[in-house]
Amino acid sequence: MQWVTRDRPADGDNAECIFCRLPTGDDDRGNNIVARSEHVYVLLNNMPYNPGHAMILPYEHTGRFYTLDEDALVDYMKTAQLVIDVIEEALSPNGFNVGFNIGAAGGASVTDHLHMHIIPRWESDTSFLPLTANTAIVEEAVDETYERLREGLVDHPQTDTRDENEAVEITHE
Ligand SMILES: [Zn+2]
Repeated sequence: MQWVTRDRPADGDNAECIFCRLPTGDDDRGNNIVARSEHVYVLLNNMPYNPGHAMILPYEHTGRFYTLDEDALVDYMKTAQLVIDVIEEALSPNGFNVGFNIGAAGGASVTDHLHMHIIPRWESDTSFLPLTANTAIVEEAVDETYERLREGLVDHPQTDTRDENEAVEITHE
């Protein structure tokens, strides 16, 4: 998936990495980060394949699935469950594609920082475009999707909500 980089002052060890940089910012809403958990965060793709196209990323800078420890894996998968549930409620898709593109040959545009795609699908979708296509096929108001998913997350029992401009906190409790 194509990612449009933004000019933002970077800090940390991986200042070159957009997926490390985004969660260190102080504007989750502006950065399309809709939820945060202990080990992972949920980002709306700003070049969505479909409305509701979300990505779940570890804070840890790694391109290798193998390097995530058990706590991170559990958090990752429980967050995926929660995000799928919220998208089902908010957008009523007919199905989903969920998965990782790992490595350039696997279609990843950012190869050194894992990101799980959660893509809602509708029966009316154009079904034959590869998910790695660089062109967004849907004219999508990401801000509107952000609002709808945020509302769903706020209502979910396994979340806490703080400031309106901060991402919803996923507690899994
Ligand atoms: Zn990174």
